[in-house]
Amino acid sequence: MKLPWQGTSFANGIHPEDHKELTEHKPIRRMPFSNKIIVPLSQSIGAPAKPIVTKGQDVMRGEPIAEAGGFVSAPIHAPVTGTVSAVDELVSMPNGSKTPAILIDTWPSSDQAIRYLQPRDTKVMSADELVKAVQDAGVVGLGGAAFPTHVKMKAPKGKTITTLVANGCECEPYLTCDHRTMLEQTDNLLKGLQLAMVTSGAEKAIIGIEDNKMDAVEKIREAINKQQLTNITCEAVPTCYPQGAEKMLLKSLLGLEVPAGGIPADIGCAVFNVGTLAQIGELVPEGRGLIERIVTVSGPGVSKPGNYIIPLGTPLPYVLEQVGAIEKPGMIILGGPMMGMSIATRDIATTKGITGILVFPPEQLPCCNEPEMPCIGCRACVEACPMYLNPSMLGKLADVSRHQEMMDEYHLMNCFECGCCSNSCPANIPLTQKIRVAKQSIRQKARNAR
Ligand code: SF4
Ligand code: SF4
Repeated sequence: MKLPWQGTSFANGIHPEDHKELTEHKPIRRMPFSNKIIVPLSQSIGAPAKPIVTKGQDVMRGEPIAEAGGFVSAPIHAPVTGTVSAVDELVSMPNGSKTPAILIDTWPSSDQAIRYLQPRDTKVMSADELVKAVQDAGVVGLGGAAFPTHVKMKAPKGKTITTLVANGCECEPYLTCDHRTMLEQTDNLLKGLQLAMVTSGAEKAIIGIEDNKMDAVEKIREAINKQQLTNITCEAVPTCYPQGAEKMLLKSLLGLEVPAGGIPADIGCAVFNVGTLAQIGELVPEGRGLIERIVTVSGPGVSKPGNYIIPLGTPLPYVLEQVGAIEKPGMIILGGPMMGMSIATRDIATTKGITGILVFPPEQLPCCNEPEMPCIGCRACVEACPMYLNPSMLGKLADVSRHQEMMDEYHLMNCFECGCCSNSCPANIPLTQKIRVAKQSIRQKARNAR
């Protein structure tokens, strides 16, 4: 069925080359276990988890090893069976900061089956019990946000959720882990979606997928029909970056706009990534924790690109070795090339929020390496911005630290750092980076003033 608003989508945006052909047709594979696992205690937005194991303790794969540090926090489970070799060891994070971690020596040649299970009958569980089960499973937003999912599963106080949206856009170039999840874990996705409908009270749900993944649209529609899920639909939306941003997707699917500074619940909606829902659908009935995730490992610097199930805490050098990465990359990006993070050190491990690991040789970098030139006033950045901002002006004001003006007159805080402006600028001005630094500086000043 074609929706009346379908095809109108949101305004502006861009069409970068997607490079998804490298991995989109490759079935999900499991990566072998590394003999050392490094599990950072801070893997989600919110309070870090608190360790509940001690050095020298043997742990079973799936066993809780750190409890949630508060309501906005997620517990952590052992990704492997092995022996804890250190607790509270400071390790590097992708952004260069240090965080405490639990280190585990994987038992060699041991059976790595998951034995820590507490099966549940979700049909008889209340909404509160389901929310608690999602928190106990340590599920966070797997689309990259890493926000503890249980917090979003109930309508915020004073609001009503009528429509739940499953985000299957995966609009970032190279990334295909959500695409493969929708094809290979369709039933888990629909199960997780139905559980989220119970907790949120939503009457209906829509799965939104970009129209460059019609095989996933068809597979899901088939499953919906077979299971006679009359309150769930699956809709294709135009392929256009950043269609996967929740505000853009809500506009495309429902024709509704989230008010400036607002959240989807303000218009009666909640948005979940499809990979997150598939994990809820698998983990909650089995009563186990999130110990691994599907990661797209790709880019021109990798000889075995693919979508791999990788235990959380797997050291990055081990992953790079397994996929045949070149020895001297020019750039490694965690996430997609538009909103992901270029890392300065390989001395990190995989975490719950890492959707992709992209490797580029020095001569094939995904971003412009040319020097910044003066603005020529072409307005390409303005025409690309999906939030109707003036990135050129924001960049100029950021250069002279006129932060208050950026906020009051140019709505700085509506920018969600999608990268469309920088990508469109013929003068190679790193607009998104300037805007990001200005936002960080404003937040830091606010923290210092408290
Ligand atoms: S990064 Fe911000 S200013 Fe630039 S296009 Fe995206 S939303 Fe607009
Ligand atoms: S795209 Fe670049 S050159 Fe054109 S107006 Fe924006 S900042 Fe200036």
